[in-house]
Amino acid sequence: MKVLFLHGWHSVVGGVKPTCLLDHGHDVINPALDDDNFDLAVSRAQTEYNQQRPDVIVGSSRGGAVALNISSKDTPLVLLCPAWKNWGTATTLKANSLLLHSRLDKVIPFEDSEELLANSGLPPETLVEVGYDHRLADEESLSVMLWACKLLVSGEKLPWLDDEQQTPVTSSDDGKSVSQEEVSYICDACGEEIVIPLDLTEGSNQTYVEDCPVCCRANTIHVHFDVEGNVQVWAEPEQDYD
Ligand SMILES: [Zn+2]
Repeated sequence: MKVLFLHGWHSVVGGVKPTCLLDHGHDVINPALDDDNFDLAVSRAQTEYNQQRPDVIVGSSRGGAVALNISSKDTPLVLLCPAWKNWGTATTLKANSLLLHSRLDKVIPFEDSEELLANSGLPPETLVEVGYDHRLADEESLSVMLWACKLLVSGEKLPWLDDEQQTPVTSSDDGKSVSQEEVSYICDACGEEIVIPLDLTEGSNQTYVEDCPVCCRANTIHVHFDVEGNVQVWAEPEQDYD
């Protein structure tokens, strides 16, 4: 996929996040944005968008504010701790987008992202809590960034938006049905494949216990976002279930 990456204030072009996208085989457009003049940064990003027609825009910190302030039609946004209160005039986020932010961010408060969601009337699932700081350059955050891009570019409607959009039943133009973001695991006790909904709000490394709906044995479920941005799910019997 083609990614327009908008870097943060005084970030080096070619940093960890765009490099990660490149390393995973994506086309990355990573323009140098003016650090002093926000309007110049916005117009540069707008020009790149118009010329390159990216599949997704990733904006980090100040770059997130740039992403919010350009005209990007239906192109999805993946915003990492966007500094929308510090720069620009945009105060809302479009629906086919995801926010990644750490509660430990000491530069841009996590609450700013919550406020952006509230302004936009978007559900809490749009905001994925991940990472340990403002940079979001750790392996887990990078995985979630890759996963968010893939999900949005796949064209699948975000599962939590299903109720919002009252699409009338018409003869479908491409025959595709709306797919939920679901994953499955094999029950260790009975071998059945169990489908479970993916809950982003629980983070990128999840472990919990649930009873198999087929055989009722308790399984410990592990959900993990790998470095490729894929979701891995596996189950093991909960200890002492007899
Ligand atoms: Zn079972």
